[in-house]
Amino acid sequence: MLNKMRDILNKITKSGVIDEKQVNEIVKDLQRTLITADVNVRLVKEVSNKIKKKALEEKLPPGVSRKEHLVKIIYNELVDILGEESYNPRMDKHKILLVGLFGSGKSTAVGKLSKYYLKRGLSTAAITTDTWRPAAYEQVQQLSKQVGFKLLGGKADDAVTILKKGMKESGKEEVLIVDSAGRDSLSEELISEIKQLKKTLNPDEVYLVISADIGQTATKQAQSFNEAVGLTGVIVTKTDSSGRAGGALSACKQAGVPVAFISTGEKPSDFEVFNAEKFVGRLLGFPDLGSLLKKVEEAVEESEFSPEDVLKGDYNLKTFYNQLEAMKKMGPMKKVLEMLGAGNLPSDIVESSEEKLKGFKIIMDSMTKSELEEPSLIKSNRIKRVSKGSGRTEKEVRELLKQYDASKKMIKKVKKGKFRGLPGMRGMPKGMPKDFGNLKF
Ligand code: GDP
Ligand code: MG
Repeated sequence: MLNKMRDILNKITKSGVIDEKQVNEIVKDLQRTLITADVNVRLVKEVSNKIKKKALEEKLPPGVSRKEHLVKIIYNELVDILGEESYNPRMDKHKILLVGLFGSGKSTAVGKLSKYYLKRGLSTAAITTDTWRPAAYEQVQQLSKQVGFKLLGGKADDAVTILKKGMKESGKEEVLIVDSAGRDSLSEELISEIKQLKKTLNPDEVYLVISADIGQTATKQAQSFNEAVGLTGVIVTKTDSSGRAGGALSACKQAGVPVAFISTGEKPSDFEVFNAEKFVGRLLGFPDLGSLLKKVEEAVEESEFSPEDVLKGDYNLKTFYNQLEAMKKMGPMKKVLEMLGAGNLPSDIVESSEEKLKGFKIIMDSMTKSELEEPSLIKSNRIKRVSKGSGRTEKEVRELLKQYDASKKMIKKVKKGKFRGLPGMRGMPKGMPKDFGNLKF
């Protein structure tokens, strides 16, 4: 799935202009990928229609290319079908009941949850009420040694007896996690057992544990557990080994039960709070895509740099300077380029350009307002003065002016729609000087 999505994005970013035929082709690929991940067909159709409509009809925000726009639309729509915001686990004293079918990963999740809270400074204890599976107690006992939580309640023939005993033994622990037995299916017997446990424990959270393997059937399972016993969230396990995680996650959203955590492996530390944006970024093969999009937006908002100014033609050294500032706010350029998938640029090019930009900024700080607004004023005597004032060589000042000229020419091309971006780079964020790829550092 991962690679597939990356291929789709590559297709988008390799093509210069995006027309209806291409949008249709990309959406078809996306549909295939989502259906393979077991996302519900009706949902896939809905999402595809939205993406198509937005990609073709929405007005382009200033300074954003059609490619970037499409990537963003796909990203936002996928985030939307997988969940809205990041889950916010409570951090006060609370009790958790884990429910679910056999083998879904409940007992393993006891260790994971415990590790999660211990790491954040909350003490934990667990009770395992599984009287069905042989060695169920020993499994959790081993986790308790490994992770360092208290195991209470001991062993007995009856689940509620164990729970009551464990609750009596529990005291100051901030998070009490109760594991239950499960069955092959949601039988009357299982419902009644969970109801009894719930009545005795009075939990703050009831998490249904499901394996990502079950894909879109998670909707039905989450719905029926929710109706029968009441859920506050779902933990989706085995997202590492199943290609159906997308289906399982979107299915929970459909069932109206939030995904609280996802489990990404067998170790206690392979566990995280569910965050739809992060998940989609990973799905698309760009783990940092979400944070990058945000960073670029913030950088543009904070700086005086306005893509509209560039396009309106008020392009001067001040605009150039603001572009550099906007880039600086995005963090080290190497990191930004890597995030964009242009990590294959030779590192000396990237590093030297970062140094160059720093020098350029220092030089521009020594220029007068009118020089910044009208760089053609800067002739050789002014170059001397600026060089002295900034402590940089005249050669560097001339180089800056040359780069600025080159940049200005590129902007003209951008305005005429002839600019295609840097080879090997997957699109330009809007804060990035559009001419960046063509500057010869
Ligand atoms: P329970 O019957 O619901 O208590 O399920 P268990 O916690 O005993 O887990 C069943 C199996 O799934 C065990 O072999 C676990 O190691 C495995 N498992 C649980 N969570 C994950 C996960 O996120 N990834 C992988 N690969 N295996 C997992
Ligand atoms: Mg178990």
